[in-house]
Order: sequence, then structure tokens, then C-alpha cells
Amino acid sequence: MPQGELIYLDNNATTRVDEEVLNAMLPFFTEHYGNASSALHQYGWRAAEAVKIAREQTASILSVTPEEIYFTASATEAINMALVGLHAQYSAKRNKIVTVKTEHKAVLETCIFLQQMGAEIIFLDVNRQGLIDIKELEKTVDDKTSAVCIMWANNETGVLQPLAAFADIAHRHGAIFMSDTTQAIGKVRVDLNEMGVDIACVSAHKFYGPKGVGAIYLRRKNPRVILPTFIYGGGQESKLRAGTLNVPGIVGLGKACEVAMGHLWNYGADMSRLRIALEQQLCANHHAFVNGTMRDRLPNTSNICLQSLAIRNKISAMSHLAISTGSACASALAEPSHVLLAMGLSNDEAFNSIRFSFGRYNTMEEVRIVTDFFNNLVPSA
Ligand code: PLP
Repeated sequence: MPQGELIYLDNNATTRVDEEVLNAMLPFFTEHYGNASSALHQYGWRAAEAVKIAREQTASILSVTPEEIYFTASATEAINMALVGLHAQYSAKRNKIVTVKTEHKAVLETCIFLQQMGAEIIFLDVNRQGLIDIKELEKTVDDKTSAVCIMWANNETGVLQPLAAFADIAHRHGAIFMSDTTQAIGKVRVDLNEMGVDIACVSAHKFYGPKGVGAIYLRRKNPRVILPTFIYGGGQESKLRAGTLNVPGIVGLGKACEVAMGHLWNYGADMSRLRIALEQQLCANHHAFVNGTMRDRLPNTSNICLQSLAIRNKISAMSHLAISTGSACASALAEPSHVLLAMGLSNDEAFNSIRFSFGRYNTMEEVRIVTDFFNNLVPSA
């Protein structure tokens, strides 16, 4: 939705909170402000009941059971908890973790930390489409591997990896299959059992929920995933992560899951319409190309290289567009995106690429304004 003249096309960075989600949260700041651990009075019971409902709602969007959901402060925290925990739990017998160069920094930086702690970390390559070569994965995973960690939807390109095939390889070697599912939740249908995912993560603010709340899914059966305590204290979240629960945030996460499920069919169709209109216009006029496979990707995400427009030198002219350029998730850094470089783009191509990520509040009129803007930019000499 425009804020003044501003057009927000950065919904993979974060989203506006849905009205229904906000209304569900508000009473838990004021009237129902109890601590969910206070077992002796009504304030506590009310908060605990709200957390229970949110756990059910979160489990439902993932098609898993509520007992497999643990609340966290973010997807980043969930990823740290999982990778650090897996290393602590299994490294004596299995010291290897296999991941991919195009993962979010939450995974990459945690893996680099574990490498410094003595873990063997394999960072797999991707091809120009952003996809992993399954034969490479087959060759890399072995009986020393504790976990294979591959994201479902890439935050910069929207490319979706075929997780079920990867999970199968991990399981054949007795390894845990973990996936950073942060960008896919609320955007595509999810069934973690069907895909064989053992550990997954959720972040409310990526799908119209509040910032600062997320969840981790840990499979209970076949295989049962057990992680050691990540935060010590009062024993909340089954002793995995202590700390007073963020009840309003958790209520918001649960509600955001419920609302997202209700919107799912329309979301896919609506986002695809906006994305197709944008891509057709930009690619027809500027020898532009879409980064990543166009077959399996998020409906709302389009990463386009507009090299002929020398976008890199025109950032200041784009102040009315909230988009991501260069390094999409850390766009304040003047570095080319590690994702695009891993896909084989040159530095120049990466710097001249833009991530457009649509959301429920965007309109076709906004797409028209954006495409007109780019069509009126003077190509570089
Ligand atoms: N993983 C992916 C793929 C993301 O896009 C993000 C957010 O940008 C994260 C993890 C981290 O999520 P959070 O903001 O909840 O820490």
C-alpha cells in the first residue's frame, strides 16, 4: 500500500500487520496481560489458553501436531537453536553438516561459527537457476552427516527447492533433514510430513504477523528430533527455550497462520498476476532477465536483472520504491548478493538486479506506476 507516494514492494523483508491479527493481539497487552506460566490464577490461565490456541494454529499451517511446535523470537533464533543444538547433540559421532551457498545468513553465519567449533560444513553450489544438483547432494551426504540443511524458498529469488527428494537422501544416511521454511510459510501450501522435513522454522512478520516472534518445528516421530536446551532459565517451551512467553506476539503468530491459510488460494493467483504483469513489461523493454528458475518459485517474488538501465547508479532516483537491490536481505551493505553470485551472475549483474516482492496490499495500479517508471529511465550508454 502506498505511504504518500511510496510503493512497498519489499514484502519478503517484512509485511504490514493484518488488521485481524492486530485486533487479536491487542487485548493481550492490556486486559489479558497475564504470564502464561502463572498456573495459580485466571490471568495466567487465560494467557496459557491463548498460547495453546496459537500453538494449534501454527501447527495447522505446517500440517503437524501442536506438540511439535516451540515458540521463539524469530526464525533466526530457531535456525541457531537447531544448528547449534544438532552439533552439540550429534557431533561426537556425526560431525558433518551439509548446506547450500544460497542460504540466508542466519544459516550461513551459524554454520561458519560451527566450522570454527570444529564441525565439517559442506556448502553446496547451485546452478544458474538457483537449484542444487541432486547428484552432488547424493555424493556429499554420508554416515558422518548429522544434518542436511536446505532452505525451501529463497528470500531473494523465490526459487523453491524440491525438498522431498533431499529429505529422502538425508534419511537414507540417518541424517536429520532441516529446512529454513521462513519465506514459504503463508505463501504456498505446506505439509512438512509429506516433504519429510524434520526441523522447520516460522517467522510471523513474513506473513502479516508481528515482528519478534517465530517458531521451530521439531519432528516427534520417525525420526524423533531432540535438541538440547538452547536458553536456560525457567524451563518454558519444554525446557528448550526459557523466558517468559511473548503472549501478544504468539497470539499474533497464531492468528497470522489462520488468516494466511484462509487467503492461500487467492494469494497465489493474485501475486502471480502482479508478478507476471511486472515481468512482462520489464523484460520486454529492457533486455532484462529473471534471476532463478521460473518454474518452481514463490508467487510473490521476482528478481530481475536490469543491467541495461545501470540500476546501480540510479538508486537515488528510486526513493519512492521500497525494493531491495544489491544484497537483498542486507541491502544496507554495499556488497553484491551472495545468492546471485552463487548462481553465477557477475558482480555487475548482481548489483543491477532488483528484488520485487509483492504482498496482499499491492495493486495492479502500483505495478503500472513501477513499470512506467522503469520504462522512462534512460538506458546507460
Ligand atoms: N530465513 C529467511 C529465508 C529469511 O528470509 C529470513 C528473514 O529475512 C530469516 C530466515 C530470518 O527471519 P527473522 O526475521 O524471523 O529472524
